[in-house]
Amino acid sequence: MTDWMRFLDEHKRRLIFGNEQMDDPARAYDKKRAVHAGVQGRAVEPEQVQAVWKNEMQKLPLQVRDACVYINIPFCQTKCTYCGFFRNLADPVRIADYLAALLREIAMAKSSCMVGRTRIRAVYIGGGTPGTLNPVQIGELLSAIRRHLPLSNDCEITFETRTHELGADKLQACIDHGVNRFSLGVQSFDSRSRRAIGRIDEGAVVIENIQRMQAFREASVSIDLIFGLPHQTVETYLQDISTADLLDIDGMALYQLNVFEGGRMDKAIQTGRTIGVPETSEQFRYHQAALHLLTDLGYHPLSMSHWVQGTLDRSIYNRFSKNGAIIHAFGAGAGGRTESCRYFIQPSLANYLESMNRGVKPIMGLSKKGSMTPLHDYITGEMDSGRLRFDRAQSRFQIDLKEICAPLLESWQRRGLAVVGERTLRLLPAGQFWYVTMNQALLDILEIMHREGAYEPPQERVAAQG
Ligand code: SF4
Repeated sequence: MTDWMRFLDEHKRRLIFGNEQMDDPARAYDKKRAVHAGVQGRAVEPEQVQAVWKNEMQKLPLQVRDACVYINIPFCQTKCTYCGFFRNLADPVRIADYLAALLREIAMAKSSCMVGRTRIRAVYIGGGTPGTLNPVQIGELLSAIRRHLPLSNDCEITFETRTHELGADKLQACIDHGVNRFSLGVQSFDSRSRRAIGRIDEGAVVIENIQRMQAFREASVSIDLIFGLPHQTVETYLQDISTADLLDIDGMALYQLNVFEGGRMDKAIQTGRTIGVPETSEQFRYHQAALHLLTDLGYHPLSMSHWVQGTLDRSIYNRFSKNGAIIHAFGAGAGGRTESCRYFIQPSLANYLESMNRGVKPIMGLSKKGSMTPLHDYITGEMDSGRLRFDRAQSRFQIDLKEICAPLLESWQRRGLAVVGERTLRLLPAGQFWYVTMNQALLDILEIMHREGAYEPPQERVAAQG
């Protein structure tokens, strides 16, 4: 069952197993090699894309399926140095044109059989920065979502934003139209670190804005914090978590800084415009210290990056996006999934508007899921929650992951990354730092087996800091 080992050369073995002889868990792997674990599907030829898309939309699943919605608002007021998602600077005229097209795109979905046979458990309005919409536009967008899409009674509606844009009138518009979760890209309360990544407000202003949001008592508040920023130390990072705790935040998403090779942050570091950031093995220390503090404070993990207290922050969209659920995507640059395809909407504003003016869904790329995708999704959903049930994989997919992956699992256990139990693999704190890389290694093994060696493990350039 470990036949796949014969297909590994030294390079592939190192990507999958990492530094096998190294006992230091901070150096278990060289560095992160993908933002999200995954395996690319088979791309549909451009001339076939619209026909395949229409076919997908007219499918009628036998049973009503759970789904979620992602809506992209691709505008920002400034360009943050570390970000790979910036598309367009906010401009009132362009935003108005875009919103008009987006509302038409959402209305078009109403006639789709496939959308009608889903119950939407979570809507995520992200970007970019949805807070660049004005209050009237926020109301129009949320009204269109409610009018045209089959939301479940308990639908989680998240509005992602920077606190800078969200004045009282915008906040009120969100609340009046059903937003029940705010996800705030705080990144750090430390003003020096914030300035270094292009954030406008001082930490104290961010705190005031969060308190205004909490005062409504209508929506849960979750914040993103990043570790590994310029000028940040382990102590200032822990101080960020303590500040969030004092604010009584419902949830915290703790992300590792990804420095994209050739990206703005990489260039800023190379040219001395910003000071260097910690290498991956240093980031490990930040992560472990945070885990220790959050556990001590009584928070619990909803996923490997999201910690909550209480029950208000459910973070449903993020869970669904990891376990392969259907995602109806709207807006330039958004990515979605049907039962058998993944798709990506035109990121260029001009191309998006041109397609919508013709009444055509602006799909830029579409790929067919492979026969292994359900198993991959299962593994990714499980690893994101810090464990992997072997017995469920066996009953659902008739595959003995424990036996197939035994050499890798034993190596992880020996190096203190995971515990291999009778039915379950459980990630230890050190493994929780490396979970994306470990997840990818499992998918790589399955693809190597499936394609009898004709597969190259992905190696994105997402950790230029080393
Ligand atoms: S971090 Fe957010 S606000 Fe900053 S450039 Fe990226 S998408 Fe825009």
